[in-house]
Amino acid sequence: MTQKAEVTPGAAWPALPARAMALVYLVACLLPIGIGALSRAAPLDPWEAFGAGLGLAGLTAMAVQVLTSGRFRAVSGGMGIDRVMAFHKIAAYVVVLMLVLHPLAYVWPTWLDDPARGSERLVAYLTGPDWRSGVIALGALVLLVVMGVARDVFRYEIWRGSHVILALVALGGGLHHAASAGRLSALGALHGFWWAVGAVIVLAFAVLYGWRWLRLHRQPWELRSVEPKADRVWELDIQPAEGTAPVVYRAGQFVWMTVAGRRFPLFDHPFSIADSPRRAGLSLIIKEAGDFTSTVGDLRPGTAIGIDGPYGTFTLERHSGDHVLLVAGGVGIAPIMGLLRDLVARGNTRPVRLAYAVGQPENFACLDEIEAARAVLDLDVLLISESGEGWDGATGYLDRAKLEAILGGLAPERGVALMCGPGPMVTKVSDTLEDMGMPWRNVVYERFDYAGGLSARQDRRRTLGFVGVFAALAGLVAALSQIVL
Ligand SMILES: Cc1cc2nc3c(=O)[nH]c(=O)nc-3n(C[C@H](O)[C@H](O)[C@H](O)COP(=O)(O)OP(=O)(O)OC[C@H]3O[C@@H](n4cnc5c(N)ncnc54)[C@H](O)[C@@H]3O)c2cc1C
Repeated sequence: MTQKAEVTPGAAWPALPARAMALVYLVACLLPIGIGALSRAAPLDPWEAFGAGLGLAGLTAMAVQVLTSGRFRAVSGGMGIDRVMAFHKIAAYVVVLMLVLHPLAYVWPTWLDDPARGSERLVAYLTGPDWRSGVIALGALVLLVVMGVARDVFRYEIWRGSHVILALVALGGGLHHAASAGRLSALGALHGFWWAVGAVIVLAFAVLYGWRWLRLHRQPWELRSVEPKADRVWELDIQPAEGTAPVVYRAGQFVWMTVAGRRFPLFDHPFSIADSPRRAGLSLIIKEAGDFTSTVGDLRPGTAIGIDGPYGTFTLERHSGDHVLLVAGGVGIAPIMGLLRDLVARGNTRPVRLAYAVGQPENFACLDEIEAARAVLDLDVLLISESGEGWDGATGYLDRAKLEAILGGLAPERGVALMCGPGPMVTKVSDTLEDMGMPWRNVVYERFDYAGGLSARQDRRRTLGFVGVFAALAGLVAALSQIVL
């Protein structure tokens, strides 16, 4: 019999499962069309109704983007941050498409009759004072998406700051446009709906950048020690300062961290907790990757640290299996150490297998501790260095032969795998484990890169699910706008 998922201290944030979230999303986006039916405005012709439907649903979907930004646990807690961010990105394209089509649908019949007059009408919409806030909103939205695509061109903090400002301009302009220029929204219930949406957005930003900023200062943490763990890899021991409430988390989750005077949510960075909830405080294993991470080795004990979390669903509690396969690539060892330390702390009796791959042997971290864990757990370890120089262990990539070797006689179909590492490795190993018979729902991974790619089978399944939601949204907007507007 397959062993049940275990329970450790650390409450999981209550959250809806993915299907329920999809339903809530559709209902939320379609709600203004339903409310629009109550309006006493004169009936619209079919194209105008479609244009209005696109505007109403598109603006609401844009507002929902604030909540799917990965920073609200009630939203990302049930789906996982990888999925929420993937949804957020695809939804951004859908919102742009709906809102670009919104004015075009109004002029389409005119354009079919007389292209010159259609173009004139469109220019009038784009330049007329009555529609200015809508045009500004659309411009900000398009820029937001273009900057999202070109994210790596910008310094992260600049990109993020401009993301927030452009989002506020797009939302503020869009709401002003709806409430002032929209025929259905000018008065009555729909007018009230936009005020309510505006209030939710203000509240969301107040929580994200006001209340959380206050909490980072009022509930500070303190750096106790910084230790080198491998080449350009550091382990930070962070403890709550006096009066600060501890973080209640599950092994494998992550936190957003800020340092000293820069304890403001705009400057935070995500790091996995490399610790067991059974130990006080938090340990983070951080690899130097850029501006911020290159400075962690110089941080002095006693430095004030801001911690916001926990986030993420990379935990054993959500998945059951007779045995556990842990796979780490490079600094992906951080959450894997969290899981391993917790399995040790809990006195886990399930067989545990660890495959840990790095580029060079000097990148291995925590090997002493991994070795010591063998004394407590039924643990086999496979260490792989991509480059063989100065290394007499396994070399190359973590391929099927190596996975079969580390699993030994353990049946893949009865196990659960948690892996964290670079995108290409995670993708390849995920597909290989599926080929070996592991149920895909038991192959759980986290990438440290939101732009991790689409190529694993799981990613493609997930994207197909999103496409289904957006196809349903498009179909329902088209149908409902004709029936009720
Ligand atoms: C869920 C999650 C958990 C992570 N856990 C760990 C961990 O345990 N250990 C570890 O060493 N690294 C971890 N990372 C990666 C870590 O957050 C980035 O390496 C770090 O933020 C880079 O910041 P920088 O200023 O040093 O580098 P930069 O030069 O600014 O950026 C290097 C790369 O990191 C990305 N990045 C920068 N800042 C952020 C940010 N605030 N949020 C998301 N991406 C960012 C950039 O887009 C770029 O691709 C994790 C990332 C995620 C998403």
